[in-house]
Amino acid sequence: MKKKVLIIGAGISGLTVGNYLQMNGYETEIFEDHSLPGGLCTSWNRGDYTFDGCIHSIGGLNRKFILNKWFKEILPLDEMNFNYYDSLGLVVTPEGEKINLWTEPKKLEEELLRIAPEEHIFIKSLIRDIKALGNIDLMPKKPIELWNPLDYYLRQFISLPFLPYLIKWNKSLENVLSKIKNKNLKYALNLDFFKRFPMFFFVMSIGQLASKNSGYPIGGSYNFAKLFEKKYLSIGGKINYNSRVVKIDTESNIAKSIILKNGNIIKGDIIISASDGYNTIFNLLEGKFVDNKINNLYSKHPMFPSVVMVSLGINKNLSNLPSVITLFQKTPIVVDDKTNVYEIPIQIYNYDSTLAPENKTCVRVILHTHNYQYWKNLKENEKEKYMMEKKRIADSIIKIADDYLGDIKEHIEEIDVVTPVTINKYTSNRFGSIQGWEWLPSVIPELISKKLPKLKNFYLTGQWVMPGGGITGAFITGRDLARIICAKDFKIFKTKKK
Ligand SMILES: Cc1cc2nc3c(=O)[nH]c(=O)nc-3n(C[C@H](O)[C@H](O)[C@H](O)COP(=O)(O)OP(=O)(O)OC[C@H]3O[C@@H](n4cnc5c(N)ncnc54)[C@H](O)[C@@H]3O)c2cc1C
Repeated sequence: MKKKVLIIGAGISGLTVGNYLQMNGYETEIFEDHSLPGGLCTSWNRGDYTFDGCIHSIGGLNRKFILNKWFKEILPLDEMNFNYYDSLGLVVTPEGEKINLWTEPKKLEEELLRIAPEEHIFIKSLIRDIKALGNIDLMPKKPIELWNPLDYYLRQFISLPFLPYLIKWNKSLENVLSKIKNKNLKYALNLDFFKRFPMFFFVMSIGQLASKNSGYPIGGSYNFAKLFEKKYLSIGGKINYNSRVVKIDTESNIAKSIILKNGNIIKGDIIISASDGYNTIFNLLEGKFVDNKINNLYSKHPMFPSVVMVSLGINKNLSNLPSVITLFQKTPIVVDDKTNVYEIPIQIYNYDSTLAPENKTCVRVILHTHNYQYWKNLKENEKEKYMMEKKRIADSIIKIADDYLGDIKEHIEEIDVVTPVTINKYTSNRFGSIQGWEWLPSVIPELISKKLPKLKNFYLTGQWVMPGGGITGAFITGRDLARIICAKDFKIFKTKKK
């Protein structure tokens, strides 16, 4: 008889593990709180416009990389269209200096040398490593949990040539920038998203954009997530939407069933949570299966911030503009009572015509914040102020865009503002975190267990078991987990459904 697997969450990770377990002869069923698939990987409609709430870029698009082969086990990658960025954006300093962060290494080198010729040693070394790291594939071929001594031994030979790069760039971008004297070069590289990650990630990301391994899926994030759902349903998977799991029942340290908000109890042989780690461990399982390591992780490890995200639907053709313009301000936007932001990245979706009618354009600005509590307090206790704060931030963004680009304000047809509370409401991610744990500066990201101490027949997957998170993290942890479950059941891992 087939084992029955219950999966909590229809985000990318839940859908991925569901897909692979279906391919391997398990009977799986997903329970999703929301009415839609995708979790954080989403977009939504407002009037004529589709506002994208997620993907700037995902890796795995270049055939040379193993992730490309793995994605194709689920996604029709060859039939999909992607936007490959030729620039990470046009950076405009408060003094008006314009610097284009080209992804093509030679062009980037020329641009950086133009603004900071005295930093030629740093720039040349950076460019050399962007070229090198853009073409390497460090993805382990099988989950570390299944490595044998030979795998560990062989891994040294694969990693050895790249170890110098990993060590050289293991400090955070913020730290590296603190040693650079040239002001414009500092602005150019001071991209908020990358700041606290190891510089290695920044160098590799530009390299992978250049090698066309990373890009944006035309059609947006929700359509991308729908493809995972489509495949899953086509191979017999079952999804229950509007089905919030409120408890995982255990008996003698074995996970036995899930209880839904409507009181239904569903029994399974294996239970997987592909949803928020904290809620799973401390609420659904009532904190009964933790040790010091887990307590430390959840009390000390820094989390990726949440966002205030302003999307604008503009009745104007903006195809003549770069796809990202980052405007550094002399005076910051006050996001909330703990967050001031000087750097305003305006993402102009002129590369995806599916998001707006002809001659209209979607624009998005993401401002990061760790201050979930501020937004939660407002939403719960001062609803009117919450709405006014959203409007205040949208107005500030519109003014900045209008001042720089000119003639924007009168053409705005739709305005949408997402706060950390919105993210939490629709995905249950703790404090509205958009990517789980931060990847702290170190050579290798720490490994977080997909199992909990003493608890049998239960696993975790998704962004909360892979620091750095992201679509790739959600996918890899889901695929790896399916392999781990197959190995435990002495099954050969299959990547097709017969
Ligand atoms: C603004 C933004 C930009 C981003 N940009 C990128 C990018 O450019 N590239 C990239 O790779 N990544 C990006 N990410 C991150 C990426 O979207 C996430 O890391 C990834 O989608 C996480 O997937 P997941 O399946 O692990 O979790 P989630 O997407 O959080 O899915 C969890 C699912 O579980 C459901 N759930 C939660 N609790 C319960 C419950 N009790 N019962 C039932 N269901 C439940 C939720 O509703 C959700 O659907 C971005 C995210 C955001 C928000």
